Amino acid sequence: MHPLSRLKLLRPPTSDEQIATMRAHVRDNATDRPAVYRMISSDGEIVYVGKSKRLRSRLLSYFRCAFPEDKGARILRGAEQIEWEYVPSEFAALLQELRLIKRFRPRFNVTMKRDGRNYCFIKLTRGPAPKLVVVRGPGEDDSSLYYGPFMGATGVGESVRELNDVLGLRDCSVDQRMHFADQSELFDSFPRTPGCIRYEVKKCLGPCVGGCSVQQYDERLSLARAFLDGTDDGPLSHLRREMEESSERLEYERAAVQRDKLKRLEALRGQFARLRFAVETLSFAYTVPGHGGDDRVYLIRRGRVRAETPIPTTPAAAADLAGLIGEVYAPIERESSQIPTHEIDELLLLSSWFRRFPGELERTSATAGIAPLAVAS
Ligand code: SF4
Repeated sequence: MHPLSRLKLLRPPTSDEQIATMRAHVRDNATDRPAVYRMISSDGEIVYVGKSKRLRSRLLSYFRCAFPEDKGARILRGAEQIEWEYVPSEFAALLQELRLIKRFRPRFNVTMKRDGRNYCFIKLTRGPAPKLVVVRGPGEDDSSLYYGPFMGATGVGESVRELNDVLGLRDCSVDQRMHFADQSELFDSFPRTPGCIRYEVKKCLGPCVGGCSVQQYDERLSLARAFLDGTDDGPLSHLRREMEESSERLEYERAAVQRDKLKRLEALRGQFARLRFAVETLSFAYTVPGHGGDDRVYLIRRGRVRAETPIPTTPAAAADLAGLIGEVYAPIERESSQIPTHEIDELLLLSSWFRRFPGELERTSATAGIAPLAVAS
């Protein structure tokens, strides 16, 4: 049978008769092997994407939902077609499911299946006076910047609070209105009191009350970004320079404050380094036996599948794989903790997979060794 099986049903999509027809189609055509499936409404909307190691059993379980309010029953009532696509393995099904969910955002896949218990990210919001927020993963707003992943949201939250205090960044609600000093002419009545006490205790520059200009706030934000990036000492050397200049001008009180900030930032740098999850540990070739001998090798670098190919069975195919390995791993990548939004869910999926099935790590290998290992004699 063609790997993509499709059934079109008569309207209305939710009738018992249509559901019975769908069930018969699944019973007659689906087989128990890894697959990704989609539930599609009468107007072509993909309302749900799922995956299973045993497709037939999984799909038939939808038709056994005892109560109409069960999620499975609701999905079925919203769909009039079921499509599925066989894939070589459970791992391949997971990856494909993730990609389809990200692409189509089906309404019954309310949230991504994330392993949010262990990791968190620091998100830099957009808009005037951006702020740092600790989140479990990307939201709908994919254009934000994310740093991470980090281990332990509580510890990261405390460190971010301290970073905000040191650099004077705001931490109030995203709805808080901003009134920058250099934009005061835009406002009829310039607010006289800040939205919270942090401005008065000098822990926030006070962009809500004209306490700083756009540029001053942006400069502090750049320091925070460089700091979170973890790749340069920008914020620290900046503060060190300021402290030295204050000393030279004999402004000892100011220099002492800057010295204290410097110490706290140095401590925070170590704190963030300890909390940061080493994405580099998820860099290897992963060999996965597939259904019917459809074995695959996945080239994973820094928590993302960069390439996938059948395991080579001839010297020529092995040479191709060696070339692919070079393309994937040879380019030097900056070890920044800033992570593109589209990579976050895949990284979480991979780390969750290898934590759930630690034995799978035995199928991974340093990329230098994969080509000779993979060639069948
Ligand atoms: S002082 Fe103003 S901008 Fe700063 S955190 Fe408080 S409300 Fe927000």
